[in-house]
This record gives sequence, C-alpha cells and structure tokens, in this order.
Amino acid sequence: MSEVLNVEELFASKVFTVGKMKERLPKNVYKEVRKVMEQGGELSLETADVVAKAMKDWAVENGATHYTHWFQPLTGITAEKHDAFVSHPDETGHMILEFSGKELIKGEADGSSFPSGGLRATFEARGYTAWDITSPAFLKEDATGVILCIPTAFCSYKGEALDKKTPLLRSMEAISTQALRIVRLFGNTEATKVVPSVGAEQEYFLVDKAKYLQRDDLIFTGRTLFGAPAPKGQELEDHYYGTIRERIGAFMKDLNIELWKLGVTAKTQHNEVAPAQHELAPIYETANIAVDHNQLVMETMKKVADRHGLTCLLHEKPFAGVNGSGKHDNWSLTTDNGVNLLDPGETPNENIQFLLVLACILKAVDTHADLLRQSASDVGNDHRLGANEAPPAIISVFLGEQLEDVVRQLVETGAASHLINGGKLQTGVSTLPDFEKDATDRNRTSPFAFTGNKFEFRMVGSSDSIADPNTTLNAIVAEAFCEAADRLEEAENFEMAVHDLIKEYMTEHQRIIFNGDGYSEEWVKMAEARELPNIPSMIEAAGTLTTEKAVNLFAKFGIYTKVELESREEIVYETYAKTMNIEALTMINMANKKIVPAVVRYSRSLADTVVAVKAAGADASVQLELLNAVSMKLKAAKTALSKLELVTAEASSIKVVKDRAFYFKDTVKPVMDELRKPVDELEMIVDKSMWPMPTYGDLTFEV
Ligand code: ADP
Ligand code: MG
Repeated sequence: MSEVLNVEELFASKVFTVGKMKERLPKNVYKEVRKVMEQGGELSLETADVVAKAMKDWAVENGATHYTHWFQPLTGITAEKHDAFVSHPDETGHMILEFSGKELIKGEADGSSFPSGGLRATFEARGYTAWDITSPAFLKEDATGVILCIPTAFCSYKGEALDKKTPLLRSMEAISTQALRIVRLFGNTEATKVVPSVGAEQEYFLVDKAKYLQRDDLIFTGRTLFGAPAPKGQELEDHYYGTIRERIGAFMKDLNIELWKLGVTAKTQHNEVAPAQHELAPIYETANIAVDHNQLVMETMKKVADRHGLTCLLHEKPFAGVNGSGKHDNWSLTTDNGVNLLDPGETPNENIQFLLVLACILKAVDTHADLLRQSASDVGNDHRLGANEAPPAIISVFLGEQLEDVVRQLVETGAASHLINGGKLQTGVSTLPDFEKDATDRNRTSPFAFTGNKFEFRMVGSSDSIADPNTTLNAIVAEAFCEAADRLEEAENFEMAVHDLIKEYMTEHQRIIFNGDGYSEEWVKMAEARELPNIPSMIEAAGTLTTEKAVNLFAKFGIYTKVELESREEIVYETYAKTMNIEALTMINMANKKIVPAVVRYSRSLADTVVAVKAAGADASVQLELLNAVSMKLKAAKTALSKLELVTAEASSIKVVKDRAFYFKDTVKPVMDELRKPVDELEMIVDKSMWPMPTYGDLTFEV
C-alpha cells in the first residue's frame, strides 16, 4: 500500500491564503485588506504593517528565513532577490526578525540589468516592485531554504511598466469597466466587476538528465540543433493518452503534490502526441493568478524533474520532426455575481447578451488579429506556428456548427429563429448509454476556438508567459465592448439597436470565422483572399505593436503608452537576435569540438580498415564507398560550418537591432540549416559508439 495523500490538508499549505489572513488578522485589518483586494485602492501603512507582521510570523513558523518581491520582467520568466528577515540585534545580542508594511508593499530593484527596450537608461537604474494584493503570497522551498514570495508588479522610476504583470492588471481593469457597461444594458445591476478567467494547459517534454547533460544544444538553447530522426516518431499515435510510464508517473505525482501545496489546482495529466511529451492542466482562475501560477507550474516542473534525474524541456520545439509544445490559453469572462458572459445557455439564438458578447469578440479578433498573433510569438514558437502541427500563423475563430449557423442566420435574415441541435450520439451498443452530443465538436487546428463557454487561444508557446496573450485579449475585447456600449447606451430603442449592432458586427467580421482544417494549403489561400493577416515570424509580428491602431487601442485604456509599446517592440528584436546568436554559436561549438572530430576519427578508422583489408588481399570496396560518402558529407559540413562562422561574426557589426534580428532570420538561419543537413546525414551512417552525443532515439524513447 502506498501512503495516503491528504490533498485537502496539503492544498495551499504554502500559501498565505485569504483564510489564513482571516485567522491571523484583526477583524478591521482583514476587512480593509479584503476591500482593497476586491475594489482596488491602497492599504494604509499601519494596516500594511499589521499584514506584514502576520505574514512574516506565518512564514517563519513554516521555516522561512527570507522574503522576496517576486516579479515578471520582460525576460518572460520570473525574478527574485532575497532579503533575510534579520535586523539589527538588540543590545543583548538578541535577533528579532522583522518585516515591515513598507517592505511588503514596495521594493526597489536595481533593474538596469533587466530588458527595458531603451526605456530606462542605466543612469536611471531604479526599478520599483509593488505588491499585487490580489495574488497571494507563498513559500518557495528549495536548497536556498524557505523563501516568502510576494507577487509584485515591476515599473520604472517614472512609472513605466517594466514587466508583464502591470499591463495585465491594467487590461483587467479595462475589460471589467467595459464589460460592466454591457451587462448593465441587460439589467444586471448587481455585478460590481467582471473578471477574465484563464486556464492554461501546459505541454512539456521530459528527458533523462544524464543524457541531457551530454547535449550542449539542449543545455544552451533548450532545443536540439542537430539530430537525425529516430526510426520511430509519433506516427503510430501510441503516445497520446498512452499509459504513463512508472518513472514519469513518479514525477507527475511529485509535481502535483508540490503544485497543490502552492495552491495551484493541478487537475489533468496525460501523455501528449510526441514521444516523451506530456501535458498538465490546472483548473481556471482569475487571469493574473493564472499567470503567476503558470510561472510556478513551469518552475516546479523543472525543479521536480531534476529530483527524478530528469530534465523538463519547455522549449516550443525541442526536436525537429515531431510535435512541439504549446500552451492552450482558455479564456472567459465572469461577473462577480457569477454570470459567465461566454455561456450560450440552452438556446444561444435567443440569448441576446451572449450574441452581443460574441459579436464583439468576433469584431475584436478580426480587427486585431495581428496583435493577437504577436502576443503569442516567441523565438521557439517560430518553429511551430504555421508548421502543420500547431495552429497556423493565421488567426481565425472556430465557432462550431451550431453557433456558425446562428451567425449565418443573423447575417442573412437579421434573426436566428432555429437551432441545430447536438442530438443524441448513438453508440449502437445496448449496454452503453447514448450521449447528448455537444453542439460544438473539437477542432484542433483552430488558433481561437469556442469550446462551450470559453475561448481557447491555442497559439501560445509552451515556454512563454501567458501574460501578453491575456493582456491583448482583454484589451481588444474591452475596446469592442466600449464601442458597443457607447452606441447602445445612447440608443432610443435598445432592442432594435442591439439587434442591428449584432447583425452589423457579425456581417462585417464574419471573414474571421473558419471551421475547416487550419493546416490545409486551401486555408492559406482562402485566408489570403479574405485579406486576413498571415505573419510568418516573431520579428515580422513585432511591428504590429506600434501601428497607429495598436497605439490607440492600448493608450485608450491606459494599458501601454506609446513609449512602452516601442520598448516592447525593441525587446522582441533584441531577444530574437540574442537567442539566434546563442544558437549559431552553440552549433559552431558543437560542430568544431565534437562532431567534426568524431567524424574524423571514424573516417580514420575506415581508412585504416580499407588499408588493412586491401593488405589482406580482400575486397575493400564497401569500406571505401563508405569512406567516400563520409568524407563528402564531412566536407559539406565543414564548408557550411566555415560559412556559419563568418555570417555569425558579421552580425555584431549591424548596429540597428531590428536589422540585426532580420539578418539572423534571413542570413544566419539558412546557414544553420545548411550545416545541420550533412551532420544529420552523418549521424545516420557513423558508428553509433563514436557519435559524440545521445540521439533522438536515446533522448525520447529511453526516458
Ligand atoms: P478541453 O479538453 O476542451 O481543452 P478542459 O475541460 O480540459 O477542456 O479545459 C481545459 C482548461 O480550460 C482547463 O484549465 C479548464 O480549467 C479551463 N476552463 C474551463 N472552463 C473555463 C472557463 N470558463 N474559463 C477559462 N478557462 C476555463
Ligand atoms: Mg484544450
């Protein structure tokens, strides 16, 4: 018998929950905290002092020695700087642990080493972190000890956002304000805010750590830069939902426990499509908490994998030729009196509020398809989007048969009088129940799919923060709500006006709806005819951040200033150029120090064999043929390698970062491919015992 896990006790044991605040804080203090959590505003310093002390006492009881303001700079990962609770000892030498309200609420981080896209010159290095009171503090435990982590936003001396959380919080306020206007129009006077809910399904790979450590490409870039395909890939479709192997199962069990302790509702786990690929999905929660928790999920995956002698790869495309990893961002809007605005109900054709919300979302996604695509771009995702496994790089909306038909009726006749029903699904076996069919089937190829009572944005990369996609989603939908509310609030006849507006939006933006196969060539052509943007790469998407349309949108709701957008565009180019530079250098290094020498050794042994076999008077033609083949490929590899060294070195002379990024994409990347090709061919013929690193087969099938 295995030990019994008490999940109820375990859950959130490392989180300073609202429940713990209620227990530990005086009633009036607790009330003030709750008020700020729900309605915004600032804690008074006296209140903050009381909260800080309670938080510190709880943390110290649980072994904490330090605290940190935990924030999310534009690197896309999290940052922390630890401070011990120690203070000056008193005159007897006794140590009293301290943590003040001021330290809780506000911190200073010398932020000049974080990406700022030119926002902050180094002489203005001050950055400030401010407590996001709506996301609970938690304890992180590792070899460093136990650290109290306080989720914070991070901004510059002048108040410009230097992180991913500040704009997200701003966007949540924007959509709440605008969505409230919509529900008020339909007589909802109770709701005081509307909250975006997010559930992020996380895909990942697990490989053996000892093998990982033999691959410089995995170590330095997170993906393989060389590697011939294994004899078996994912073609038998036997990994998806397959039985979970013991070693992986032990990892998953441990991962769940760690996540539950952190208050993350890890719910679903399964094997994914590619060998060695898996998925974890938590239950959805308020967007900013979901963003924080997704960061914790990624971090915990890496940590727990390590404990099990495994390495977790979060890169979007660790292995060529098999599926890469993404993150499905499930998103919906719920009022604080419990109404999901994306719930169509039994009869969506008669649910005017739902139809209006849907019309606004179609308008938003169509108007800002470019921004949505941009929000899901990162260097790794360039290998997935549009590469016939992930969603295409073209944004479209999948509604399912029933809703698509409702939209069609509304567009054609102005009314949707009937509903295609799901009906019964007959199993044809008398002992099995017949199912009520869902009115929406699944469509795995759609980047933005309606799935019952939420939209699922499927473009996001597996290693990326989900902050940007949700910020963009909130912003674009807030804009559509705002425009609709502006018109409807003025309308003399609301019924007529809302009816006209739904019809108008749906007619104008129906081109964004696509229920077919998003991977097909036909769709690419059809989308082009519909004039939908098809932006193939991250750096080509970057410019969408600073179009007049984008600047107006984000400025209108105070989410990003123009300057902040410009800095973010700059960071995209910077990140791309730096990442590609590392990849190119890693290839050069591996080829020079490992691959070429190994192949030289192998050819030497072949040459020796040829001589020996000939001397013995036997036929050495096969050995000679092989030697020739190896030598030719080696020559091709060496030629490409020299070229790669040249073009990579050239990059540093390009001063404009945007130009440098494009140079890497257009000039360096093709040479990287040129080098990879002969090396992968060599891997297929060189004696395995001489190949200097584990192969795809070793990495993905022997975990
Ligand atoms: P599917 O298998 O269709 O992707 P799941 O039920 O597995 O659907 O849900 C996937 C994710 O969507 C989970 O994280 C889940 O909590 C989340 N989710 C479910 N309902 C909502 C909602 N209303 N808003 C946001 N996310 C949701
Ligand atoms: Mg899903």
